[in-house]
Amino acid sequence: SADTAMYEAKNNGRNNYQFYAAAMHEGAARRLQLEAQLRQALERREFLLHYQPKLDLASGSVSGFEALLRWQHPQRGLVPPLEFIAILEDTGLITAVGEWVIGEVCRQLKEWEAQGLPLPRVAINLSARQLEQDDLAGTIERIVHAAGVAPALLEFELTESMLMSNPEAAVEILERIKALGMRLSVDDFGTGYSSLAYLKRFPLDALKIDRTFVRDLPHDSDDAAITMAVIRLAHSLNLKVVAEGVEDIAQLRELEKYNCNEIQGYYFSRPLPAAACTALLLGEQPLAA
Ligand code: C2E
Ligand code: MG
Ligand code: MG
Ligand code: MG
Repeated sequence: SADTAMYEAKNNGRNNYQFYAAAMHEGAARRLQLEAQLRQALERREFLLHYQPKLDLASGSVSGFEALLRWQHPQRGLVPPLEFIAILEDTGLITAVGEWVIGEVCRQLKEWEAQGLPLPRVAINLSARQLEQDDLAGTIERIVHAAGVAPALLEFELTESMLMSNPEAAVEILERIKALGMRLSVDDFGTGYSSLAYLKRFPLDALKIDRTFVRDLPHDSDDAAITMAVIRLAHSLNLKVVAEGVEDIAQLRELEKYNCNEIQGYYFSRPLPAAACTALLLGEQPLAA
């Protein structure tokens, strides 16, 4: 790849300057090509959503889904978000794509409703750039209202760094979204810096413990201590806790011991195409709102 070539060129001394420049050029050209393709992706309907269920530990039922963006690239196949979200952010395209995501989740909910299925709550990831956009709450309200979806079915996930880069502004936006009747959660909790004073001021419903703390449970005693402390803190602030990245039964049992509310991860389910979610919902009892 271009990165490897650059690394090797750097380490082989200046004879390889030309090679280095070529590799850099290749990297920049690839990036430009991706950008151009992303600019057309919305219009060409190449984006789609997968949905990963969350399991409520007390009831043993699906408590909702998280919508996760995918790009169906004509040549490369299904591209995961880590390969293109940053470009959408840098170019500002994330605003339009983010609105598409909200609209698509609403459309899917209406489809499930028309099929008579019990409706799950669906969580949508927001990006930093969206939080800075003009009137995010108004945009959300407009899309959801036009679709005729019950606001209580929607949840938004934001990271600590997004909230803390301008906490005063974030409090205001979150309060407006909350007033619409939607839920709010902090994603990847524990990986960023968050002020506990602000944690209290944000109108949050849940914390999602980052999967790096879950990965080495139950063996790593530091991770166990952190996980337990985060769950206690969250509960004392009246927040629910979701553990991300649960991959095996031992992790699940450990989280149960700490009274974690919900889990998400490959152990229960990978992110699924919408059709697979439809099948899952067919077997579910109606969910409590
Ligand atoms: P995230 O919101 O923290 O989503 C969780 C990620 O962890 C997802 O990766 C999911 O597939 C993965 N995951 C779930 N369970 C497990 C597990 O048990 N083990 C492991 N190793 N991984 C697990 P994905 O779908 O590749 O998404 C990556 C990130 O891209 C998301 O992290 C989120 O930050 C961002 N993203 C995805 N969709 C959107 C979107 O619509 N808008 C925005 N702004 N960002 C999005
Ligand atoms: Mg998320
Ligand atoms: Mg997460
Ligand atoms: Mg994460």
